[in-house]
Amino acid sequence: MQYLFDEDGRRYLDAFGGIATVCCGHCHPDVVEAIVNQAKRIQHSTVLYLNHAIVDFAESLASKMPGDLKVVFFTNSGTEANELALMIARLYTGCNDIISLRNGYHGNAAGTMGATAQSNWKFNVIQTGVHHALNPDPYRGAFGSDGEKYARDVQEIIQFGTTGIVAGFISEAIQGVGGIVELAPGYLPAAYDIVRKAGGLCIADEVQAGVARTGSHFWGFEGHGVIPDIVTMAKGIGNGIPIGAVVTTPEIAQVLTRRSYFNTFGGNPVSTAGGHAVLKVLEKEKLQENAFVVGSYLKEQLNKLKEKHDIIGDVRGKGFLLGVELVTDREKKTPAKAEISHVMNHMKDMGVLVGKGGFYGNVFRITPPLCFTKEDSDFFIDVMDIALSKL
Ligand code: PMP
Repeated sequence: MQYLFDEDGRRYLDAFGGIATVCCGHCHPDVVEAIVNQAKRIQHSTVLYLNHAIVDFAESLASKMPGDLKVVFFTNSGTEANELALMIARLYTGCNDIISLRNGYHGNAAGTMGATAQSNWKFNVIQTGVHHALNPDPYRGAFGSDGEKYARDVQEIIQFGTTGIVAGFISEAIQGVGGIVELAPGYLPAAYDIVRKAGGLCIADEVQAGVARTGSHFWGFEGHGVIPDIVTMAKGIGNGIPIGAVVTTPEIAQVLTRRSYFNTFGGNPVSTAGGHAVLKVLEKEKLQENAFVVGSYLKEQLNKLKEKHDIIGDVRGKGFLLGVELVTDREKKTPAKAEISHVMNHMKDMGVLVGKGGFYGNVFRITPPLCFTKEDSDFFIDVMDIALSKL
């Protein structure tokens, strides 16, 4: 579940969840059982031959979506899901230009590396057709929490950097790899509006923020009051089994009938059986509610740590997608890069695993399995408190 054990049997509290992936808990018995049973039945056939393991999960996922988002394509990863989404947007609109956000992460293949906008994740290869808009980052961004001001940059990119029409816009609801950055309020509705007026499709990358993790909503975009044209997901939908998905409308999905789109393992029955079990566990164990209640409690406690330790510059995020940014100077927001590694290693020595990220590598990423308890949170806070005190 939320614990991991090393080769000597030492227990660790897992507050990273394999990078926001293990949502039901490690080795959750229901998920393991579904995977084993499916492996005994049929492990592989490809979607050329449909079977219930594939279709039942697709229907279940579609039932969690608003509006007309009812067609599901399965892939093996988040990168593949976003590659497919970008291609669909380009085919549907006949345009090439995509807008993504600075500091976003969308994958590491040809198209998605272009959409990813952090130099440390970009290799020196051709990445064309993507414009990177100002990041609506309330902590470090130029306009603070004024979402509409940042959205004007999207308008200007369209006016000055394209022909006036675009293929689409891709964004996370809360940037994960980028350091748990919540987008300024009002940004997404304004940006969606501008992109749609320029003929583009809006893509929500739910690889980290989706599947109940933010607690208040099942999908991160719902927290912004928008309905995307295409939704991509991976990580949490499989609790650790390799699977990704793209969900869109029947009208948009139609573009893929122009050629053959084929993915040997996309929709693998063992992966989809696991994914279907995940959705059932989330519901049965009310894990979204737990993410909301315990995640809010944990955030409150982190804010108390911020009052005590000057090195904490910012506490942010929702549910179990939380970030703690360390800075050596609160005014200048100087990234505490060396200090964070120290604290992280000390926490590991005391039995707590936590992630780190952000462009400057100075943000703790707290993304535990959604079964994380209040007692786990108290233990986490005590350990972080001790490690920060020892700096
Ligand atoms: N989108 C987001 C928001 C991600 O965080 C990631 C992975 N960190 C990806 C896409 C790519 O997913 P994958 O590693 O499964 O290809």
